[in-house]
Amino acid sequence: MSQPCVNIGMVGHVDHGKTTLVKALSGVWTDTHSEEVKRGISIRLGYADSPFMKCPKCPAPQCYTVEKTCPNCGEKTEAHRTVSFVDAPGHETLMATMLSGAAIMDGAVLVIAANEDCPQPQTKEHLMALDIIGIKNIVIVQNKIDLVSKERIIENYHQIKEFVKGTVAENAPIIPISAQQNINIDILIDALETTIPTPVHKVDKPASMLIARSFDINKPGASIDEMRGGVIGGTLTEGVLHPGDELEIRPGIKVTTEGVTRWVPILTTISSIFAGTAKVEEATPGGLLAVGTYLDPTLTKGDSLTGQIAGAPGTLPETRHQFVMELHLLERVVGVTREEKINEIKTSEPLMLNIGTATTVGVVTSARKNEAQVALKRPISAAIGSMVAISRRIDSRWRLIGVGVIKS
Ligand code: GDP
Ligand code: MG
Repeated sequence: MSQPCVNIGMVGHVDHGKTTLVKALSGVWTDTHSEEVKRGISIRLGYADSPFMKCPKCPAPQCYTVEKTCPNCGEKTEAHRTVSFVDAPGHETLMATMLSGAAIMDGAVLVIAANEDCPQPQTKEHLMALDIIGIKNIVIVQNKIDLVSKERIIENYHQIKEFVKGTVAENAPIIPISAQQNINIDILIDALETTIPTPVHKVDKPASMLIARSFDINKPGASIDEMRGGVIGGTLTEGVLHPGDELEIRPGIKVTTEGVTRWVPILTTISSIFAGTAKVEEATPGGLLAVGTYLDPTLTKGDSLTGQIAGAPGTLPETRHQFVMELHLLERVVGVTREEKINEIKTSEPLMLNIGTATTVGVVTSARKNEAQVALKRPISAAIGSMVAISRRIDSRWRLIGVGVIKS
């Protein structure tokens, strides 16, 4: 399997079939966390690589498959491009995870179940999030067509068309599929090939990686000799990484000495890199990576480094405990039944802020019409000009209310 070169998000309302579609495209069931399996929802970001294969004999779209032999003619298929899928949770309480996932998406599949009316609340909220974060390359799938009549599929298609009018997805292709029955997967791959191209990556810049997950991969009771260092998972936005390269991670770890708390960047060396299941000697941007380090695995356990940045030492953005952002608020709250008007941001209100893959709470210390200063509960490493997705607590849930740009 070649290295994945593009990250495609699976977004949409809970139970519309995102995880099933990732499984159909990659063979991987991403809901592996025991709590996720029990509750049947994706809680953390799941990811899986999918090698798109092409039959040398059949015309498009029938030539596309994920199988090693062509389902139409039986010919041996050839590797085309490998895609990393980021499976976002669709449950309304998990918007922060969806937003940190959106930070690493080059494009997205908006999954809409054809057996329900469109739009459902998180169909709307996720599309709004893609719009705010600037993800323009979108393919819409109408899933579960095996459950409904042809008339209903057409009616649902018109609902979708009406819903996306005036949004970033206005001209997105709409592909009717069944993720569970493997219907029209070839047509979907064809649409992904044309709608979500591989981005042009800046490989000559210093390495910078957004951390989406972090792990302790050791089995309980492993002996000292078998112990492996901490692992971080995420995507390189720029530059390349090799085993043996030094790595800085910011903001790093919280250290309290004599009553004073500081955040200290972590320095380590890369021990190994996996792109999908393949061990690689060089990792390039695009696609999701697992980077092994010599860190104490307690530092990386349980996604503790999610939201941090890793890269070439001395090149990462500064650690910020507060910042001023320019505000662009939405008019109304989406993803709720009562779509209330969004009021101005007020001093001392807490906001949930998503910057890159980081989620933090910021308390507003000063607010003007188009600008707000926030003091962060947890610092972030981010450059001036970075985008911030802003959510406010409404009826005990965080709701997306707009976007900010870090000014100072
Ligand atoms: P997610 O919450 O969007 O990740 O949804 P899941 O992938 O977990 O799917 C929710 C439920 O819908 C599961 O019971 C799936 O088996 C079912 N499902 C998903 N895709 C299809 C489909 O194409 N047809 C049918 N009949 N059921 C589907
Ligand atoms: Mg799921």
